[in-house]
Amino acid sequence: MAENCIFCRIAGKEIPADLVYEDDQAVAFKDLEPQAPMHVLVIPKKHAASLLELQPEDNAIAAHILCEVIPALARKLGLAAGGFRVVVNTGEDGGQSVRHLHFHILGGRSMQWPPG
Ligand code: 5GP
Ligand code: ZN
Repeated sequence: MAENCIFCRIAGKEIPADLVYEDDQAVAFKDLEPQAPMHVLVIPKKHAASLLELQPEDNAIAAHILCEVIPALARKLGLAAGGFRVVVNTGEDGGQSVRHLHFHILGGRSMQWPPG
């Protein structure tokens, strides 16, 4: 757990969030400022500041989130039929504001491309 990391604190239940999923490795909760009718963040419980910090030993958690948690959540949240978008903002140019790796799941409306 990284000190003063808001997402570590959410994962540790130190601060509240609207949780939609939890297992031993990951947690998902509603974004505080939703950018779509459905906007959920999926995070690994283990702190990593961004995609750039992931190591080969993190393969399993990354695959778990991508291959299991996100598809299951998309179905559970009713996004599978219409589709959805997964976003991982990384670093300054990527627009990352919270330095704990997180996967945005956005759905419930048609998305634009290219993104801003
Ligand atoms: P980023 O800009 O780093 O890709 O995304 C961070 C996201 O975290 C933003 O969409 C922001 O609304 C959300 N967020 C920031 N602080 C909190 C919080 O305390 N609780 C929740 N649920 N979401 C947060
Ligand atoms: Zn953290």
